[in-house]
Amino acid sequence: MTTRTVLGACPHDCPDTCALQVTVENERVIKVQGRAEHPNTHGALCTKVSRYPERTYHAERLLHPLKRVSKKTEAPAFVQVTWAEAIADIAAKLKAVKDPQAIQPYSYAGTMGLIQGEAMAGRLWNALGAARLDRTICASAGGAGLAATYGHKLGMHTRHFAGAKLIVIWGSNSITSNLHFWTYANQAKREGAKLICIDPRKTETADKCHQHIAVLPGTDGALALGLMHELIKNDWLDQDYIDRHVDGWDELREKALAWDPERTAATCGITADEVRGLARDYATIKPAAIRMNYGLQRVRGGGNAVRLIALLPCLTGAWRHESGGMLLSASGWNAPFKNPNLERPDLLAGRAPRMVNMSTIGDALLAEASPEFGPRIEALVVYNSNPVAVAPESPKVVKGFQREDLFTVVLEHFMTDTADLADYVLPATTQLEHLDVHTSYGHTDVLMNQPAVAPLGEAKTNTQIFRELAAAMGLTDPAFSETDEQLAAQAFTADIDMDLLRTQGWQPLPIPEAPFANGGFRTPNGRAQAAGADYVPNYESVASAPELAARYPLAMISPPARNFLNSSFVNVKSLRDIEAEPVIEMHADDAAARQLADGARVAAFNDRGRYVATLKVSKRARPGVVNGLGVWWRKLGLEGSNVNEVTHQRLTDMGNAPAFYDCLVEVEAA
Ligand code: SF4
Repeated sequence: MTTRTVLGACPHDCPDTCALQVTVENERVIKVQGRAEHPNTHGALCTKVSRYPERTYHAERLLHPLKRVSKKTEAPAFVQVTWAEAIADIAAKLKAVKDPQAIQPYSYAGTMGLIQGEAMAGRLWNALGAARLDRTICASAGGAGLAATYGHKLGMHTRHFAGAKLIVIWGSNSITSNLHFWTYANQAKREGAKLICIDPRKTETADKCHQHIAVLPGTDGALALGLMHELIKNDWLDQDYIDRHVDGWDELREKALAWDPERTAATCGITADEVRGLARDYATIKPAAIRMNYGLQRVRGGGNAVRLIALLPCLTGAWRHESGGMLLSASGWNAPFKNPNLERPDLLAGRAPRMVNMSTIGDALLAEASPEFGPRIEALVVYNSNPVAVAPESPKVVKGFQREDLFTVVLEHFMTDTADLADYVLPATTQLEHLDVHTSYGHTDVLMNQPAVAPLGEAKTNTQIFRELAAAMGLTDPAFSETDEQLAAQAFTADIDMDLLRTQGWQPLPIPEAPFANGGFRTPNGRAQAAGADYVPNYESVASAPELAARYPLAMISPPARNFLNSSFVNVKSLRDIEAEPVIEMHADDAAARQLADGARVAAFNDRGRYVATLKVSKRARPGVVNGLGVWWRKLGLEGSNVNEVTHQRLTDMGNAPAFYDCLVEVEAA
């Protein structure tokens, strides 16, 4: 028996980017653990990735290329083909597309790795002049909000939350989706810190905080303005910090003065005392730190909400302390260390292909050719994503994927909802079978992932699949011959020590402990920018759409179920067994008003669609809001539906992102 350990990194869309230790016995992975030596992992993984061997060796893992033999509106049927046949046919079909802009890549964070993400794929799309993809589905509203305010996605160190005396966890179920931050928050709590959770849902994290403030979805920006009102009225501002480091405060100050606690409370669906108490705590308990997460920016006003919340540490001077400030994303810290040319934009040779927003892929696939849109999408190549399950307004997404004249290729580990609608399904390697390098959006380390075992079956790395497609399409640029090792060696600037990544597994980036103690934001003049920030109400609310709200009176949010990560892991039986079935949580008052009993099969519906789930009458839901926990694969859910049946494709105020949590429904017995 031979046993060895291999150093890795978690590839999933999670801020923690854990360092992995993979145990291989007789060339089979038997254990995946968190590395104790890595400061941000401290030896612990979430339940999901602890089950990685189960996922990798899953009986339904795709191990061979498959070609569709059924109509797209029929039950999916595929036959196994050779790689040579698949690559030759796909290359011929892509070459036959006259306008390369009619070839649409679609990918996101199924792996966050720089190599198996876009390194080789981006080269192929650039060389072809294929359509570009605006990758907005998760974080671009908040990212745009931070960029407008601070010049980039920057924040405090996660580890310094341990030293805070007040932690406001705003729009984040950290126990589920940011476990290693929670470890630091818990440490602070043990040392006397007060923890306050702001979230429409009473999450597992809210259970463990001292206070939970259950705002209505989409009203976080109003709450931030209400807090500013109290900071002004009670003379709790750090005027010196504002004068030195903030532009546009006078304008924002005028807006904030219109948000007294009563107006704020009425808008947010909370009490005026909650507004006053939160403001007092935020102003007087120091150091105060805010951990935002992306849930709160999945509404029409998401970008502005992030702007307003992110400015709070400037107003109280919380940035002066290493354990004060705010964190939504740390990814701006690693940007200067990344090679902007890894995907070889020079291969575009001056062309500027059209950009399609991934968040409106349903509409895009159904769009006819037009001067505004350009050519009808003829070919779609999906990798690292499952859009049929995760994109908003899935009835339209499904209809688009069902087009018989659309040629669709999906690189996948499993037959997802999206793979079911492909013409070709190509088996891709998992993180245990390939090389990659990673940055993080929760901490500031760079990591390397070494392959632990050879690819299973006939699976190939994404990079190899795109290399072979490029060759079959006659692309001979040396960019398509580079190995994964060569790509990894180019991924970063010379500040990153590749030998250290290989031997230690990670390298911390040199970031100051209290980066904004003396201002120095990444804006052109180094000052935070407050001008223009304002509350933007939801598209779908009583105030902005009263007629719609009369028909569909319940606001619905769709946060991730605890044991899933977006749509990943839904097919891992041991995890799905814990979740049991798709659930809609509803407050007892709302259930009684509809004569719905706990455990009933119900449907959440609106003009867009109908999502079937089991009703859980629960204190986790506040009155007027239902929680549709996601994201189930449609085919593993009830009646072939998931929560995106009812979400819409309208975009946020900034960043062109989807407003998933800006959604009105009614619920009835199914
Ligand atoms: S999903 Fe997040 S918490 Fe879980 S192992 Fe990956 S990085 Fe760590």
